[in-house]
Amino acid sequence: MGAPRMKVCAGCGRPAPGGTLGEMISALETGWTAGLATFASLGLAAGGFAYASLWPASQIFGATLIAPSRPGELALTFDDGPNPAWTPQLLDMLAAHEVKATFFLVGRYAESEPELVRRIAAAGHLVGNHSWSHPNLALTAADKMREELTRTSQTLEQVAGAPVRFFRPPFGARRPLVLRTARELGLIPVLWNGITNDWSEPSEERIAASLTRSIEQAGRRGRAANIVLHDGGHLALGANRGPSVAAAGRLVRQYKGSRQFVTLDAWAATAN
Ligand SMILES: [Zn+2]
Repeated sequence: MGAPRMKVCAGCGRPAPGGTLGEMISALETGWTAGLATFASLGLAAGGFAYASLWPASQIFGATLIAPSRPGELALTFDDGPNPAWTPQLLDMLAAHEVKATFFLVGRYAESEPELVRRIAAAGHLVGNHSWSHPNLALTAADKMREELTRTSQTLEQVAGAPVRFFRPPFGARRPLVLRTARELGLIPVLWNGITNDWSEPSEERIAASLTRSIEQAGRRGRAANIVLHDGGHLALGANRGPSVAAAGRLVRQYKGSRQFVTLDAWAATAN
């Protein structure tokens, strides 16, 4: 089967910029017909299924780690790497400010770029599982889905030499089996409470401004911030992520005096 036809952004599966939740759901319904038949017995309406599958704050399909009640903490997370074109610059910036981050790596890229994975881990950053080939796991067969997760964890553990404990589903897409399988494999599923279209936005100012709003909003709600940026692209190695890396630098400079930068293992106890 081909990829689902969804009106979502290439980077993370959010609704296209400017799209409303209603537009997202109506667009999703086209591609989710097969899944809906399965979930009709649960009494979930079409919109409910789309919401539960893709909306970060939805916990209907199982608990996921987003952010604990620690408004002083900020976790920067970087998806879709390692990317030889931009991850090194990002690591240089983080090192200059002595900030640690979490990297959700694509397994097949990690296999191609083992030295870069080792550099990420050796710098003290946390390495997480972002699947082997970045499929929509909500629409992936059970055995293939399990292989996507196990092969990635094995590769990352071999290369980086440390256990992998966190998993972020590509596009944030999930169904109960995805979360159950991840937990069976010892992985804590992670979503986010701050994301923007950094994969398609050329302005580092706009990326940083959007994420600043998310960080401030999380703080007002008494929550830590769990922020997604992209140092790679899921379609191919070498994606241009200059604006994302520059925006990350802005956020680090902006918040290093007022927030504590943490990696997700600082929150692991809150995720169980
Ligand atoms: Zn991704």
